[in-house]
Amino acid sequence: MDHADANDIIVAGAGPAGLIAALALADAGFGVELIGPAPSTEDRRTTALMMPSLAFLDDLGLKDAVLAHGAPLRAMRIVDATRRLLRSRPVSFHASEIGEDAFGWNIPNGALVRELEAAVVARTAINWTREAVSRWQAADDAVEAFPAEAAPITARLAVAADGRNSKAREAAGIRVATHSYRQAALVFNFAHGRPHGDISTEFHTETGPFTQVPLPGQRSSLVWVLRPERAEQLAETGDEELSALVEEQMQSMLGKVSVEPGRQVYPLSAALPSSFARKRVALVGEAAHVFPPIGAQGLNLGIRDIRDLAATAQRHAEDPGSGAALRAYSLRRGPDILARTGAVNALNRSLLSNFLPAQLARSAGLGILSASAPLRAMFMREGLEPGSGLRSAFSGRREEVGR
Ligand SMILES: Cc1cc2nc3c(=O)[nH]c(=O)nc-3n(C[C@H](O)[C@H](O)[C@H](O)COP(=O)(O)OP(=O)(O)OC[C@H]3O[C@@H](n4cnc5c(N)ncnc54)[C@H](O)[C@@H]3O)c2cc1C
Repeated sequence: MDHADANDIIVAGAGPAGLIAALALADAGFGVELIGPAPSTEDRRTTALMMPSLAFLDDLGLKDAVLAHGAPLRAMRIVDATRRLLRSRPVSFHASEIGEDAFGWNIPNGALVRELEAAVVARTAINWTREAVSRWQAADDAVEAFPAEAAPITARLAVAADGRNSKAREAAGIRVATHSYRQAALVFNFAHGRPHGDISTEFHTETGPFTQVPLPGQRSSLVWVLRPERAEQLAETGDEELSALVEEQMQSMLGKVSVEPGRQVYPLSAALPSSFARKRVALVGEAAHVFPPIGAQGLNLGIRDIRDLAATAQRHAEDPGSGAALRAYSLRRGPDILARTGAVNALNRSLLSNFLPAQLARSAGLGILSASAPLRAMFMREGLEPGSGLRSAFSGRREEVGR
């Protein structure tokens, strides 16, 4: 049996979360055994990475390489495109209102994982076995991964970055509550006649959000949440007809639309595990949380998992998989993951709901945000980094009181 060095940490899964976790743990001084097949190059999605996530990639020496493929998000707009009784006015959020140049950048997933893979390959502290883990053995003193072909690897900590159906999570005996929505996200890119002005617009519809996000030039990416059968139908619709439908849905805001080849459909679901770490296994990324793609939260939350895990592992460097280290990690991640999961699922349900109070809460919430600049600022800061919105609100109050 092959044993990893006592200082090594296993990272299972080489999707975006696994690749970033491997880099962060290597830079924190650990040897890393990354186990997982190379990520798909066919992922046509884009990811809006917010400024704190980009700062983290900067610490890993990757920000410039990643930004070269993307476009900035300087403003976000929410348009209530439902035909319901209670509708709110459009609300706009500008990064300049909170003294930022941009909220984040939108990066094509293909380019993002290519840059991450190149950085992983260049780190000598990372050994990458490009196979799936077929079996795990998690015990109190060590965890062992059995790759499909290569020799087993033992470590004191395994990071489960193996996605929503995580086998590492199952091996640690962590239960997971799941929910499938009767929704799917249709994803593709399109060119448009007018410049987007670095603005992302989210149209709220009765079946879910329709979100345009800027790409370089006069191009944007689209995440269109629909009933699954309608998403499949539109994925097969001719380019001209689909371009006209997108332009109509956007109220011709960006002029003439030309959809680009390559459409993908992602069924939507939610998942929340009963714990974020157990038996020498710590969960990050979609192994730790799955929810609908609203407000660009998923990978940004995953990057915060990784940031906290690397910091906890460094503080417990003598045994990063010990009970004390795992408890510290769980305590740190719990509030953020629960708050984001709750907020995204509640917003999604309020869009689908015909229940008047749910519609009222959503439209009143948007109305208040549209009218109040300080609340909007708090909401924007909170969207970037949990706790920072509330912190800035309270420090503002202290300044007022002190005056
Ligand atoms: C339509 C859509 C749009 C989105 N937009 C955004 C956005 O704008 N901003 C944002 O922050 N998030 C966004 N997200 C969420 C984001 O895409 C996910 O959070 C992110 O992809 C999750 O990455 P991951 O590495 O955790 O999981 P995955 O990408 O699922 O990677 C898991 C990896 O584990 C591997 N694996 C599985 N089983 C094993 C095994 N047994 N052994 C080894 N490896 C294994 C798989 O091969 C895979 O490579 C969006 C999601 C969707 C559906």
